Amino acid sequence: MKLEDKVCLVTGAASGIGKAIAERYAAEGARVAIADLHGDSAQRAADAIRAAGGKAMAVAMDVTSEDQVNEGVARVVEAWNTVDVLVSNAGIQIVNPVESFSYADWKKMLAIHLDGAFLTSRAVLPHMYAQGSGSIVLMGSVHSKEASPLKSAYVTAKHGLLGLSRAIAKEGGKKGVRTNVICPGFVRTPLVDKQIPEQAKELNITEEDVVKRVMLGQTVDGEFTTVDDIAEVALFFASFPTNALTGQSLVASHGWFME
Ligand code: NAD
Repeated sequence: MKLEDKVCLVTGAASGIGKAIAERYAAEGARVAIADLHGDSAQRAADAIRAAGGKAMAVAMDVTSEDQVNEGVARVVEAWNTVDVLVSNAGIQIVNPVESFSYADWKKMLAIHLDGAFLTSRAVLPHMYAQGSGSIVLMGSVHSKEASPLKSAYVTAKHGLLGLSRAIAKEGGKKGVRTNVICPGFVRTPLVDKQIPEQAKELNITEEDVVKRVMLGQTVDGEFTTVDDIAEVALFFASFPTNALTGQSLVASHGWFME
């Protein structure tokens, strides 16, 4: 078991990629805190892990709320004494061309992706520093390294996560805390399903073309990356034994983006 008894807090873990990471961590012996805006879905995800023999708790948390993040992390620490691994994964997508992107939507996107990563990292770091170890995994995207039309706020926020990760890596290295960014290509989750009709309308093409051309056209095999692929990478980073990889990001995208 690669994460035996490690306390792992995963945000946005009631759905999609975060849920798969939480399940994978639990299967490796971790105690998993499922943090999500939707407390009832978080509870269902935690119950399912427990029903399968794992250890999990649900934490209702809006990652853009300083108070809710601090209270949520405090609840996890009260229950399990510390946080060993943070996966900052909660996220949404809003697509629109820049000239009609509302300022409110722009701020909402930056708040969920960037403020959320900052607030959750800030809340767990004192516990990691106190014990001299910890791993922070931020959920980036191919859009941490590449742009696409209609996704200005998302691309900006996801690029920003690389900077936050590197800054925490430099500050945390001597204190045993490492950070990484995972950069998935398209993964078929509710977040992506929502975009298909929206992009078809905005780009004036069929939904099938959105999938084949826009989402998968530049992959080597026309395949979606899966939640299990990303969970495997998240396990790799969380359980890596040294600081050798700290500050690095890894793209998992079926060859859509290579570096
Ligand atoms: P999803 O919609 O399936 O899950 C996102 C979860 O985040 C939901 O459970 C939602 O309730 C939660 N959430 C949203 N806002 C929140 C908030 N303010 N506070 C707490 N929780 C909140 O989406 P997903 O595809 O699994 O995306 C997860 C992460 O992966 C996101 O950061 C996304 O940008 C990133 N990502 C996704 C893809 C993809 O193709 N699906 C690709 C690259 C990166």
